[in-house]
Amino acid sequence: MPRTLITGGAGFLGSHLCERFLAEGHDVVCMDNLVTGNPDNVAHLIGNERFNFVHHDVTNFVYVEGDLDYILHFASPASPIDYLKLPIQTLKVGALGTHNCLGLAKAKSARFLIASTSEVYGDPLVHPQTEEYWGNVNPVGFRGVYDEAKRFAEAITMAYHRYHRVETRIVRIFNTYGPRMRLDDGRALPAFMGQALRGEPITVFGDGSQTRSFQYVDDLIEGIFRLLMSNESEPVNIGNPDEISIREFAEEVVALIGSSSSITFEPLPADDPKVRQPDISKARSVLNWEPKVSREDGLKRTLAYFREHVGTPLTA
Ligand code: UDP
Repeated sequence: MPRTLITGGAGFLGSHLCERFLAEGHDVVCMDNLVTGNPDNVAHLIGNERFNFVHHDVTNFVYVEGDLDYILHFASPASPIDYLKLPIQTLKVGALGTHNCLGLAKAKSARFLIASTSEVYGDPLVHPQTEEYWGNVNPVGFRGVYDEAKRFAEAITMAYHRYHRVETRIVRIFNTYGPRMRLDDGRALPAFMGQALRGEPITVFGDGSQTRSFQYVDDLIEGIFRLLMSNESEPVNIGNPDEISIREFAEEVVALIGSSSSITFEPLPADDPKVRQPDISKARSVLNWEPKVSREDGLKRTLAYFREHVGTPLTA
């Protein structure tokens, strides 16, 4: 039976990965320091004899007893307000944490997958973004702590692959949403849903003409699983090319909830990318993968989670 380590396993994406790998029959070691992760995300897995939770910060030496077949490194603050609050930890987990996990992969002869991001493309000058594009990142801007940590993570992953022959995979994840996002993580979707449910004004940053392309979490998890099991060691974009302006997205959320919220415009954060859309030709051809869940369906499923899991002020 394969044994898999998932760092950041108590986070939004990590917890969905833990579920998926358990369902595939793996033994799962979930490692998290719970800085932005939440044990509630994996509480339902405790008691499964194939699931183990380890409270550990992967920027320190990572020790796991026994064999490991796969290591998925998903530990990192991932929303702009989180990495603004935790800039050093963000850099450390992308750099030192990735180094430690690669060292562990080498020692265990495990296959390693790094969670990279569309942020490696920065404020892109190529649209949609293909894997060949090198990006337009401001290293000293406030998003730089995340972008550069992930760019370093990709570089050291390729170095371990080329120099140490570790089997590696790099997934570039585009905006993803779904159950277990934190309502207070500052991202557009949870912010808008929370505001719409409370009847508060929706805070659109800038004039809302900047675009994003949102994918539902189940599609991403499927793409990651296929990539891990493939032979592709170069980066692969996983995202939904269905692009929308942030203003239209806010209107969609308000309409879905049937809320009376108005839209207010606030200053655009520094270095906020103006456009973002994945070119997924490579995922289509190499992984035979494409997203299946429409935004309408995905938003409904996410709303159901927020209504169920977040307390009383959140009734429409
Ligand atoms: N955004 C917004 N209002 C909010 C939160 C975010 O208008 O309350 C904007 C943000 O400036 C960005 C887009 O929505 O242009 C997506 O932001 P998010 O933080 O979700 O993801 P990222 O910028 O990392 O793609």
